Amino acid sequence: MRLILLGAPGAGKGTVAKLLTQFDGSIQISTGDILRGAVQAGTELGKKAEAFMKAGDLVPDELIMGIMENRLQEPDCAKGFLLDGFPRTIPQAEALKELLKKLDITLDVVANIEVPRQEILNRLTTRRTCVNTQCQAIYNVRSQPPKVEGVCDKCGSPIVQRDDETEEAISKRLDTYDAKTAPLIDFYRQEGLLLTVDSPSSEGVMNAIIAKIKKS
Ligand code: AMP
Repeated sequence: MRLILLGAPGAGKGTVAKLLTQFDGSIQISTGDILRGAVQAGTELGKKAEAFMKAGDLVPDELIMGIMENRLQEPDCAKGFLLDGFPRTIPQAEALKELLKKLDITLDVVANIEVPRQEILNRLTTRRTCVNTQCQAIYNVRSQPPKVEGVCDKCGSPIVQRDDETEEAISKRLDTYDAKTAPLIDFYRQEGLLLTVDSPSSEGVMNAIIAKIKKS
């Protein structure tokens, strides 16, 4: 499958993407994960992106499109891909449309995951992420704590609160989402690709997406 997952930070895009990869071998591409990996590795890209990310701002479109032009042409994308956190602005969506046309790739669906703002705030302030860039497993200190406090169940690395998940950065990220990313909902509605999903569980969201793909 080839799809875009839209939704505010904390809507569960990453979790749903991971569930969907088990379904047909499509791969998850998260620009947030790629950028965090670059910051941790201290690459040029990481150095350019770090300050924007810490402040809860978006990284400039040119940097993101540079990453995605290369990423979408890698061989592992042939089976399908789930775009998690990209596109995030109208210029990115327009550039992606051109890129997909050039690569002769058609999207199946753009799934917009709707979650009330208060629920998002609750989820993000209690979210913890594994520091290992190869793992990046996600926990929640209330609803899904690791077996040993502060330690990843999957790889044993420390789990931490992300720099951009302090209360101040979260509220900035949500404002940024409303101003820059929410307009993509109308963009993809006009493209005839939009599916709106508001199931409270990630499994429910996954099932709604699979049902839609099977129908089309
Ligand atoms: P995420 O894990 O998807 O919430 O991304 C974390 C941070 O990475 C965001 O707050 C942005 O600073 C940056 N980022 C990720 N994806 C994009 C994108 N498509 N465009 C611009 N900035 C992005």
